[in-house]
Amino acid sequence: MQDFNLHAHGGGLGIFDAIDTAKDMLATARDQGFKTYGLCCHLTFNANFTPDTRFSYPLMIFNDVANARDACAKLADEIRQDAESLGIKPTIGFEVDFFSGSDWRRGFEKLVKGLDFDYLIGGVHYLFDAEGGNIRDLYETPADTYGDGEIVDHLIILKEAIKSGYFNFMAHLDLIRLFKPEATHPRFERYFAEIADTLAEYDMPTEINTSGIRKTRSRECFPNGKFLEMLAERGVAMFVSDDAHCVEDVGMGFEEAERALAAAGVKNRFIPSSLERKI
Ligand SMILES: [Zn+2]
Ligand SMILES: [Zn+2]
Repeated sequence: MQDFNLHAHGGGLGIFDAIDTAKDMLATARDQGFKTYGLCCHLTFNANFTPDTRFSYPLMIFNDVANARDACAKLADEIRQDAESLGIKPTIGFEVDFFSGSDWRRGFEKLVKGLDFDYLIGGVHYLFDAEGGNIRDLYETPADTYGDGEIVDHLIILKEAIKSGYFNFMAHLDLIRLFKPEATHPRFERYFAEIADTLAEYDMPTEINTSGIRKTRSRECFPNGKFLEMLAERGVAMFVSDDAHCVEDVGMGFEEAERALAAAGVKNRFIPSSLERKI
């Protein structure tokens, strides 16, 4: 079984969305035989967040560069100290919410410059319009208030995130399926194919994320089905992530993810021998 995990969350309790401390997460992972267990901090920054935007975790959302950097640096330090207290070499990532527009990019680039980390994961947990306004948290937006147009916009943004060059890899590429199960319909296939093409073109690995087993109606990892086959066909390097936020989910679903990878024909596996910052 894969003996590393790069996408899990721990620490920052009361501000970030993890349920357990970094120390408990790392000790559990070590007991399960993980050689590397990377803990991530959500990095969600956008100057266009307004006070009336509804968020699942309002305290980990920032519209100011300095405040975002302080909170992220504090959590990274906490993870580092917890790892060192257990005699474990810390592996620290940030799961970044990608937004479009040059203003966001400028703010984000300024923000990460002052942060100490090993890698960045790109993700999209928000809907927004072409100008970057009208931001809506996917978890707080009733699925019947948006349709095919927003699904397509979301998939196009993922492609833009890959092309940005900021990220070591992408998180849960078909997360939209959690809110809109119809996203697996053939009418969206070409957008998923474009994402798979772009990953291959940019030689970027991506994860199979077992949180889909816990969260989705179909009880399958992100990504699944035809999309996973497209990634296999293009030789995109893949690895398993548990995206755990509590000790119970550490290493959860790894066997099932391996079965899904084998069934889809995924041969190229990512090995994190050289994780280097892209930015
Ligand atoms: Zn995520
Ligand atoms: Zn995550």
